[in-house]
Amino acid sequence: MGKREAFRAVQSVTRGVTRAGLDIVLPPQDPFSKSDKDWEDIQYLDEPCCHKCGFPFEYAVGEGALCAGCLARPPRYTSARAALVYNDASRDIILSFKHGGRTENLSRFAAQLRRAGRGFLPDADIIVPVPLHRTRRIRRRYNQSTLLGRALARITNASFEPDSLRRIRATASQGGQSAAGRKRNVQGAFAVKEGKQDRVSGANIVLIDDVMTTGATLDACASVLLRSGANRVDALCLARVIREQRSQNDSQNKDAFDGKS
Ligand SMILES: [Zn+2]
Repeated sequence: MGKREAFRAVQSVTRGVTRAGLDIVLPPQDPFSKSDKDWEDIQYLDEPCCHKCGFPFEYAVGEGALCAGCLARPPRYTSARAALVYNDASRDIILSFKHGGRTENLSRFAAQLRRAGRGFLPDADIIVPVPLHRTRRIRRRYNQSTLLGRALARITNASFEPDSLRRIRATASQGGQSAAGRKRNVQGAFAVKEGKQDRVSGANIVLIDDVMTTGATLDACASVLLRSGANRVDALCLARVIREQRSQNDSQNKDAFDGKS
């Protein structure tokens, strides 16, 4: 049995267990709940976009085209995609999920993640959420990326492994920082958990986060996973802050999103 087959075999066993436990914690949600109106003005992200980071293009510019940012500084992750634009229309449903503990949109979020990640999810082995530092997790009661990752794993063939990465130091909030500041802030902040190297090695990994701003956090996570031998690391986010690529100035959205750090 090859490494890949072994992976799948373990997955199918663990998934059954996870699923049984999950239904107690998260009862299946009515997909057309009272929140339908909240979704009317949502802007969905899709092709055409930068092949690498998913930055939306106005016109199709050919297969594999990259945005200016990725041409200048190629991210370490294999690719990144987000489902929604982070803007006035999506802010409330995302922040109420992030800070208010409102999880009634979870199944819809998961369906959107699956749509956005359709290019790499069919080959994914494991789904790994971006970890929060312990103190922050306690304050917020749960890690929303963990909830997203778990919900996504239920509707894909990948196994959900929330303990693959850990934060090895607390970082200042990413909100209001410049792109360079964000990058410095998260450098050296993550590590593959002891005992998880074997799982990571050779695996196709999908990293999950709620909101992508500059991608610095995703890149820092991807880089430690790749260093541990991951075959590829794709990042999948619920929403993405879209701003002009030329100005990497964060002032525009800093009040809007207290970036996860
Ligand atoms: Zn790009």
